[in-house]
Amino acid sequence: MSSKKHFETNAIRTQAERSSQREHSVPIYATSSFVFDNAEQARALFANEEEGNIYTRFSNPNNDEFIQKLCLLEGTEDGMAMASGMAAMFTSMAAFLNSGDHIIASRSVFGSTHQILTQLFPRWGITHTYVDLSDPAEVWEKAVTPNTKMVFAETPSNPALDLIDLEWLGQFGKKHNLIVNIDNCFATPYLQNPAKYGVHIVTHSATKFIDGQGRAIGGAVLGSKEHIEKVRFFARHTGPAMSPFNGWILSKSLETLAVRMEKHCDNALKLATHLESHPEVVWVKYPFLPSHPQQALAKKQMTLGGGLVTFELGGGVERGKRFLNSLKMISFSANLGDTRTIATHPASTTHSKLNAEEKKVVGITDGLIRVSVGLEHLDDIKEDLEQAIKASK
Ligand SMILES: *Cc1c(COP(=O)(O)O)cnc(C)c1O
Repeated sequence: MSSKKHFETNAIRTQAERSSQREHSVPIYATSSFVFDNAEQARALFANEEEGNIYTRFSNPNNDEFIQKLCLLEGTEDGMAMASGMAAMFTSMAAFLNSGDHIIASRSVFGSTHQILTQLFPRWGITHTYVDLSDPAEVWEKAVTPNTKMVFAETPSNPALDLIDLEWLGQFGKKHNLIVNIDNCFATPYLQNPAKYGVHIVTHSATKFIDGQGRAIGGAVLGSKEHIEKVRFFARHTGPAMSPFNGWILSKSLETLAVRMEKHCDNALKLATHLESHPEVVWVKYPFLPSHPQQALAKKQMTLGGGLVTFELGGGVERGKRFLNSLKMISFSANLGDTRTIATHPASTTHSKLNAEEKKVVGITDGLIRVSVGLEHLDDIKEDLEQAIKASK
């Protein structure tokens, strides 16, 4: 499929080669290995002289279809499917970093990414420095050491929905000869393509908006042929491979990503605008709202504002808990990026162990509610939020 086709077409029409059964929809290649036609072909496949499947830990038609689509959607040369978002995050770092290397990361990263940086990597002599997304360029510059090899960030961040200027970050990486790695999970390739700005590695948790229906865990690492060669070597021999069943689900999911993201973002912007005028709501944060301090940057690097909205419910931690206990339709779940609207209260759950200063640094306040806006009718989402806000008073 030519990359000159549009996003939706690439997401739908990129397809594994049709078999002799003439199927219209791609079957699931539930096979651990593939047979060789003869000894010469086996030799050529193992010697990388011929491209083809050998074993599903290395490659599989369903996972390859998923990755080919993602490469077209992100504008990257190559990629590899991973068993989970965390397999993608870990592999995208471990494939490049050696003992003694240093990584600069934005402070508000996903919880398990934080554990890799602070608990696991130090065991292998890999150190990190956290920088805030809002820190000025000098602070980022100061974090660079002679051993710095990679810079990693999430934009928009979770749950603060702060952004980093990808164009600036691409130049920063180039200036210091760093591998720039962006977790593009919140934006999805429909809203933002980090590779356009010189970002070398784009990582995804496909579990979120890419699946979009809360069914499957998966991830991906994307980048240039040269970078992905290293990722592939590391993954081939350590085994974070995606299951073909999940590859099949997630490739199907990409077919509807564009229409789903349009609706997620439309519902989210309307909900954010509505909440901003609500007397019980102290503030609302959404990248495309004029009140977001980085709205101009959001409009520059994102086509739409995303599916997440955060707001501050006056009344602190206890009111936040009462609010969640009062929801009738909206789910109280750790996931996000689902057809179903999901609400969470970081101060009493995911971030309850942080002290006041740490919470402030990652942008979490006591009454902060994060809403992953789903695809239900907007009026029903509003109604449930409204009754829960009232009941939690
Ligand atoms: C969920 C998430 C991950 C981890 O993905 P899994 O598929 O759950 O392993 C990584 N980064 C971000 C931003 C996430 O939201």
